[in-house]
Amino acid sequence: MADKLTTRQRSEQMRRVRSGDTKPEMVVRRTAFALGYRFRLHVNTLPGSPDLVFPRLRKVVFVHGCFWHQHSCKRGNRQPKSNVEYWKTKLDRNKRRDRGTRVRLRKLGWRVLVVWECQTVPSKQGRMAERLQQFLTAT
Ligand SMILES: [Zn+2]
Repeated sequence: MADKLTTRQRSEQMRRVRSGDTKPEMVVRRTAFALGYRFRLHVNTLPGSPDLVFPRLRKVVFVHGCFWHQHSCKRGNRQPKSNVEYWKTKLDRNKRRDRGTRVRLRKLGWRVLVVWECQTVPSKQGRMAERLQQFLTAT
């Protein structure tokens, strides 16, 4: 029998279905949209193809996965159990690349905000929305 979900799991599942895609990037897109901003996605003519681009404001937002982009949080500090050297090299490279991307964007006159995956969970979304609004209204 496949139907072994508890009531709680089932309502959790329903909630997810109703609220649509819960991927971090979708959460940030929905938030920016709800704040009244319109934006372009993954503009690959800019360094790093920023996830959200606000051309008129000359601002960009990256939504970063904590592990891949090595956030200093619990998820980001998770250590791979095997191929340690391989992962270390790869993740260090990601981090270095991200830094370079931000520097290049700033040199081109863009302001950059990074929203981390762990900041998009439901309990943190209010704070994230405030941060996003602050970033977008700052002059
Ligand atoms: Zn994180």
